Amino acid sequence: MRVAMIGVGYVGLVSGACFSEFGHDVVCIDSDAGRIAGLERGEIPIYEPGLDELVARNRAAGRLRFTTDLKVAMDGAEAVFIAVGTPSRRGDGHADLSYVYQAARDISAQLKNYAVIVTKSTVPVGTGREVERIIHAARPDAEFDVASNPEFLREGSAIGDFMRPDRIVIGTESERAKEILRRIYRPLSLRETPLLFADLETAELIKYAANAFLALKISYINQISDLCEKVGADVHDVARGIGLDGRIGPKFLHPGPGYGGSCFPKDTNALMHTAREVGAPLSLVEATVSYNEARKSDMAERVLALLDGNAKGKRVAILGLTFKPNTDDMREAPSLTILPRLRAAGIEVTAHDPAGMEEARKLMPDVIYCEDAYETLAGADALVLLTEWNAYRGMDIRRMHGLMRQPLVIDLRNVYRSREMRRAGFTYHSLGRPKWR
Ligand code: NAD
Repeated sequence: MRVAMIGVGYVGLVSGACFSEFGHDVVCIDSDAGRIAGLERGEIPIYEPGLDELVARNRAAGRLRFTTDLKVAMDGAEAVFIAVGTPSRRGDGHADLSYVYQAARDISAQLKNYAVIVTKSTVPVGTGREVERIIHAARPDAEFDVASNPEFLREGSAIGDFMRPDRIVIGTESERAKEILRRIYRPLSLRETPLLFADLETAELIKYAANAFLALKISYINQISDLCEKVGADVHDVARGIGLDGRIGPKFLHPGPGYGGSCFPKDTNALMHTAREVGAPLSLVEATVSYNEARKSDMAERVLALLDGNAKGKRVAILGLTFKPNTDDMREAPSLTILPRLRAAGIEVTAHDPAGMEEARKLMPDVIYCEDAYETLAGADALVLLTEWNAYRGMDIRRMHGLMRQPLVIDLRNVYRSREMRRAGFTYHSLGRPKWR
């Protein structure tokens, strides 16, 4: 089957490559000519484990192509996926739908035969109908349907998530569109992946409701973690104790410096605004959004307090800058709140990240970036661990100790074992664990 994918970012490129792996003939298009030229040379524009191999294999088999020409991409395509960005709109927190609507206008100019236009981007309720209206207004003659097929993949494990999803959500009332999407996802439904059919609005809302729930779960364990610190309980045992309850589940119960990334912050904001606008405000989501913002700042204040309020002239080493491991995505990462606060307090900041430094350099130019994690620690008065990359788990703690001026470690991901760190001579702080553990 011929499939067109508009947008080759984290979602479009992974989805396009995975569809071609299913055996479909996929043409990916992006308005960023540099990105497409790079892909044609075999360069992958994002860091995503396994993606380079998947793209190379399917390009070699002739099933995956890249272009900047939508006409080429849509030629004979039965399904056209829109996977462009929907960032927060400056000023009001609504989802910026200008890229989606531009894609709809572009599509309308190229529609020849029947196709189903599928929004894979995360879009507020009503966007699919607007896409339908835009195309219909421009091309009243054209035969098409619009469907919503929200994507649930996680950066860092995107291919595995796409290939083995918990469910596939398809929102459309058209039997013809359903049949095409059934065929596209047949390799997954053969493996018993549930296909959930709903109407357009419901499918759009499922994505936001899922992300907001996960954001809420993270914030909940972060608050429980703070409570654990006050009462001498261990947040990991609490998380395990509640997570084993099948009604709660063990995932997203790990304390940290607040959620970030390209999805949760913007999606919770967009959902909050939609809900307010229609007169059904989501007070739980609103509380989550403001708590999470405050948490990132609180983590910076915690670091400053642990430096005895005497920050000026001190040097702090940061390990991990991206919002989570195995991605180069810096969008809304807690580091973007914490590092500038430390710099503003007169602290010299050195930092390392296995994949995020190129982007971080552009966003925080006054930080000293080190190519090696140990180099970051030289002469440091404190180490703050911000992202739990595997590379940091296996570091030689004696060597770390030998490099630092003051052996203070503030572990905001609870990567290290408290006892081991203390035995090695560190003053060690983590989240939600009793001091004596
Ligand atoms: P991204 O910013 O990485 O990529 C978007 C791409 O679309 C860019 O390469 C851009 O050049 C291109 N583009 C924009 N307008 C275009 C147009 N008119 N024609 C052709 N190309 C165009 O975005 P992303 O992270 O892949 O997210 C895409 C959507 O998927 C968003 O709505 C996001 O919320 C959602 N989503 C993201 C993730 C994730 O983990 N990143 C997961 C699930 C859902």
